[in-house]
Amino acid sequence: MIVFRKPLPGIERPQMEADVVIVGGGPAGLACALRLSQLIDDHNRRFPNQQISKENIYVLEKARELGQHCLSGALLDPRAMNELLPGWRDKAPIEAEVKKESVYFLREKSKFKLPITPPPLRDHGNYAISINKFVKWLGEKVEAEGITVFTGFAGAELLLDDDSVVGVRTDDKGVDKEGNKKDNFEPGYDLKAKITILAEGTRGSLTKQLISRFELDKDRNPQTYGVGVKELWELPAGRIAPGEVIYTMGWPLTTKEYGGSWIYGFKGNIVSLGFVTGLDYPDPRLDPQTVLQSFKRHPFIASLLEGGKLIRYGAKSLPYGGWWAIPPVSGNGWMIVGDSAGFLNSQRLKGIHLAIKSGMLAAETAFEAMQTDAPACALGSFHRRVESSWIGEELWPVRNFHQGFEGGFWKGMFHAGLQQFTGGAGVRDRYHAQPGYARMKKLNQVPADSNCRKQLLDNAKGDGKLTFDKLTDLYHSGTKHEEDQPAHLVIHDTNICNTRCIHEYGSPCQHFCPANVYEMLEATDAPQGKQIHLNPSNCVHCKTCDIMDPYQIITWVPPEGGGGPNYDGM
Ligand code: SF4
Repeated sequence: MIVFRKPLPGIERPQMEADVVIVGGGPAGLACALRLSQLIDDHNRRFPNQQISKENIYVLEKARELGQHCLSGALLDPRAMNELLPGWRDKAPIEAEVKKESVYFLREKSKFKLPITPPPLRDHGNYAISINKFVKWLGEKVEAEGITVFTGFAGAELLLDDDSVVGVRTDDKGVDKEGNKKDNFEPGYDLKAKITILAEGTRGSLTKQLISRFELDKDRNPQTYGVGVKELWELPAGRIAPGEVIYTMGWPLTTKEYGGSWIYGFKGNIVSLGFVTGLDYPDPRLDPQTVLQSFKRHPFIASLLEGGKLIRYGAKSLPYGGWWAIPPVSGNGWMIVGDSAGFLNSQRLKGIHLAIKSGMLAAETAFEAMQTDAPACALGSFHRRVESSWIGEELWPVRNFHQGFEGGFWKGMFHAGLQQFTGGAGVRDRYHAQPGYARMKKLNQVPADSNCRKQLLDNAKGDGKLTFDKLTDLYHSGTKHEEDQPAHLVIHDTNICNTRCIHEYGSPCQHFCPANVYEMLEATDAPQGKQIHLNPSNCVHCKTCDIMDPYQIITWVPPEGGGGPNYDGM
């Protein structure tokens, strides 16, 4: 029997009072903490007799160290950082300024370079960064300001009081596979906070609880997602210049699937390359890690990588749904920022600047609220701040971008073109969307010898030089978890996996998980001869399973704090 991870019931837990708790130490959470600190410092300078303390402001981060769970391409639009920390460029860990871009359309053996780079993909003035190094650096700034950052602590549950969020419960540590306390058991803390800010990244688990509890998705488009699978390579000198950017569309995806690749030149002959696959594909055998391997076998890409070596691997989901999928972002005692809210411009493939700006606006809202008698009730202005800021200006004109591709690549290009001329409206002001998992077809509705099937066979093992199987790639993610703990992938009904999914969809969890967490193993007493088996310690926290499972019976919850990938340099 699989025992799933959740806070133990009936436990006496230490209590801590907090003014503000920020859950998540990524770009949004750290920008929020830093901006809040700046506002408090400014206030304390101007009003020496009315000092505001930073002592009870906390950032919780589930990784052992800041930045370890952060993954992105990444290109940074500097707009938000210019506002947050003028002069940041001289001090921040930047790989290169973008100097050259090109966009290619690929077929299996050929390529076509677009004569002009489409405006949304023009990146001059942006910076190639390792988001891991960048977040570590930002975290040092936050800690130097006197804000406490608790690393290795995941938010396990929201603390609720009627219609208010009153804080966060952190994860219990030292629980074994069967759900019993071990000798090193430590109960989670109840952090009673006046203001809780969720900055957990895409498909945050507390954000999911909040959306469900208060029906925040009512009247909104369902959020849609992509998953980016990334490898970092070291190449022979001179192959790709630092600051060179290449995007591709087309192969190995078909026109029914959404996605594309990036290649960014870093300094030191390091190259970031990856493939984002839209999590709204029809064929249940599509495998995003395999898509990346097929992509590298294209003659153009293979020649770029020849003689190089794989250094790191990772995967992360990203929210594509845009403006109409963003839930209400504040309520009694809570705000949602960054990828957790869905602040990402899918047309430009960029979200870090929006995450930072949303964190800053949340800080400004929290700062004002902290000076009232009831801070929890004073967060309503956050939504207006977002709408009237340049986040609104940037996201409104692309509000229908991703939905336009629901009918496939060519229809999507038609809608994208039309939206350019109509201020983002296209054929109607609001395009609706289907959740991505609902677009997955059953096995008997897709051709037996589809492109996805062929790719799976071609890449099953990898050649160990250019292409890799999942376990080899996974080894390069540095993923580590405490082995003796309950599974943090909660499958609400494993009978569905063993009796229905196996023949209806062919167990797509085996394919969409980029870390080989899900396996269907032979079992003589199972109705279909196989049963689901989990390897939770492989998990790289990408959340794809929570998003793409066709029956929506998988819930990702945080494992014991400190566990997960180690995206050093990614
Ligand atoms: Fe991603 Fe889920 Fe696999 Fe973990 S188990 S790596 S969250 S798909």
